[in-house]
Amino acid sequence: MKEQTQILHSIPVDPLTGSISTPIYQTSTFVQEAPGVHKGYDYARSNNPTRKVLEDCIAKLENGTNGYAFASGLAAIDAVIKLLEAGDEVIAVDDIYGGAFRLFTHIYQKFGISIRYVDTTNVANVADAITAKTKLIWIESPTNPTLKISDIAGIAEIAKANNVLLCVDNTFASPASQKPINLGADIVIHSATKYLAGHSDLIAGLVVTATKELGDRIKFIQNASGAILGPFDSWLVIRGIETLTLRIRQHSENAQKIAEFLLKEKLIKNVYFPGLPSHHNHDIAKKQQKYFGGVIAFDLVIDDKELASKIVSSTKLFKLAESLGGVKSLCCLPCEMTHKSIPAEKRYQSGVTDSLIRLSVGLEDADDLIADLKQAFAFAFAESAVVESVTA
Ligand SMILES: *Cc1c(COP(=O)(O)O)cnc(C)c1O
Repeated sequence: MKEQTQILHSIPVDPLTGSISTPIYQTSTFVQEAPGVHKGYDYARSNNPTRKVLEDCIAKLENGTNGYAFASGLAAIDAVIKLLEAGDEVIAVDDIYGGAFRLFTHIYQKFGISIRYVDTTNVANVADAITAKTKLIWIESPTNPTLKISDIAGIAEIAKANNVLLCVDNTFASPASQKPINLGADIVIHSATKYLAGHSDLIAGLVVTATKELGDRIKFIQNASGAILGPFDSWLVIRGIETLTLRIRQHSENAQKIAEFLLKEKLIKNVYFPGLPSHHNHDIAKKQQKYFGGVIAFDLVIDDKELASKIVSSTKLFKLAESLGGVKSLCCLPCEMTHKSIPAEKRYQSGVTDSLIRLSVGLEDADDLIADLKQAFAFAFAESAVVESVTA
């Protein structure tokens, strides 16, 4: 069976009633026949039938053994870090998601877990950074917002050889495009807030493990720490997953057209999109991803915050907002929004200039989206004295 058929039919028909849509079990507890005698459910933090359908579904989709649903992507990340002990060391991709950076640096460092940030786009850098204390390698591919690509299979080999766990944050690619466990990763996490739910209407996180042993440890942490996903939001993520492949295909097709349009714009300096042959490690992206995704970033020849600000404030279809992965297109100015807390020097090192704009390309018609960008560029550039001096 092909994947899309498998996904749809891995979501079971309700055995009790035949309901084709998964029932939302909005309950805190389950009545027992005798003390300890029940139908597999005793208390809804430990287990909930709606959440269980989502957890089994994401495990299948990522080709793992176990899946767990959390209240947010960060709660999922938090659960994975709790596998570690004081004295352990993590090697993490240097332009890691800002919230993960904050959690690692400001919470886990004080409990004795140290984090080293490495440019993982070159596999050799990872091998060089490993010490006897390294217990976990944490990567994202593509990263946010400049879409850096790391060789997951190459890094997995190094992890295995050194007896270190590899966790991949697969939020940007989604399992419709990339399956890190097939490439050798031990754990995959998602901010299901983005492509998996897909409609910008909830916050959720997921963890998938490659082995049952790791799964049992995450399950223990999920129940012990308690940051579970509620039944209604679990149901919404299940519903989102049903159309994931279709959406990712269209997001990617639209983004490819827009990236190619941006390449031709004279006032744009860099266009970051894994589907462009000019993108660093494009060949690796091509090897490990089926689709290139819906996120694009670009900056301007004139690195001017005001000018970039004017562009993102003048688009009509691209709504100015943080987040990504929804059906409606969004744009943002990372230096003032998602990456504001990062010191300018560090920000520039990872390519997040003052004029860098991030697009989350939605499911509108690509021609309309291009027309929207054209009118925003025309409006912003027309009034800019700096632009006049460059084009004169
Ligand atoms: C959004 C995001 C997260 C955090 O997820 P939340 O659901 O917002 O907690 C983690 N990693 C990546 C790559 C993200 O984009």
